[in-house]
Amino acid sequence: MPYKARFLSLLAGGMLLATTAACGSGAAQTAAAPGGAAGDKPTVVAAFYPLQWLTEQIAGQDVTVQTLTAPGVEPHDLELTPQQVAGVGGATMTVYIKGLQPAVDEAVEQNAADKGFDAAAAVQTLPATAEEEAEGGEAAHEHEVSYDPHLWLDPSRFAGVATKLSERLAEADPAHAQDYKERTAKTVAALGALDQEFTKGLATCSTRSIVTAHEAFGYLANRYKLKQVGISIDPEAEPSPARIAEVAKVAKAEKVTTIFTEALVSTKVAEVLATEVGAKTAVLDPMESQPSGGDYLSAMRGNLTTLRTALGCTA
Ligand SMILES: [Zn+2]
Repeated sequence: MPYKARFLSLLAGGMLLATTAACGSGAAQTAAAPGGAAGDKPTVVAAFYPLQWLTEQIAGQDVTVQTLTAPGVEPHDLELTPQQVAGVGGATMTVYIKGLQPAVDEAVEQNAADKGFDAAAAVQTLPATAEEEAEGGEAAHEHEVSYDPHLWLDPSRFAGVATKLSERLAEADPAHAQDYKERTAKTVAALGALDQEFTKGLATCSTRSIVTAHEAFGYLANRYKLKQVGISIDPEAEPSPARIAEVAKVAKAEKVTTIFTEALVSTKVAEVLATEVGAKTAVLDPMESQPSGGDYLSAMRGNLTTLRTALGCTA
């Protein structure tokens, strides 16, 4: 875009934002504003819910946290409004996971290259899932990275992100460095306790295979020694009949009792599959959007309860 046109689009974004703010509704929270609107506080833009939660835990009242992905919106194919793109440019920092949301990757690269915090760069990532590799074309194109981006579903890794994020916040806002450090210690402890609950809760189970709507649970499976079979690798794409037949075969062989669905993905395919293999369906939340009630910790505990029932775990 020529400079002038780009300037005008930024300006239009600003005007739209001013209109939204004047309405005084909660919608302003999701329309990331160019910095300054919230006084002297740094503004951090979080790409989607788990990163928003983590940032809020660490930032407390010292930062204005905004979110690009509104509750109930599937984040993978998120498109950003011009004012959200401007908001990324104006923010102190943007917390995102490179490879999960191409629109956010692009906004950071083009407008805030030195102010992006890529959570995937903060921890050791796992390779992209087997299905992603096998599908090649579309999946590879969508993610454009060779690792699995769903790292927040392993609380121990997520604690690693917290520590690195806290350091970056302290660099950006040294006056509150000690506050960030203290809140991070609490957050890391809470994530550690959650990790312990998962380790104990999933230690002894009658099956360790989980059939999921899309392959979001690779990190959780890796951490707690489960085997994930994703029906679809792309939450928006319908799996082929051949893929469904293949998953049904695995589900029967592994004595799977439950086919997991997600709130933001159609349950139709999972229901067909469940009927075919004589299983039930249950919701396992990949937390790609804000849980309808509670927060990251309570939704993860809900997932643990669901998993323990489905996998027949004792103790
Ligand atoms: Zn996903």
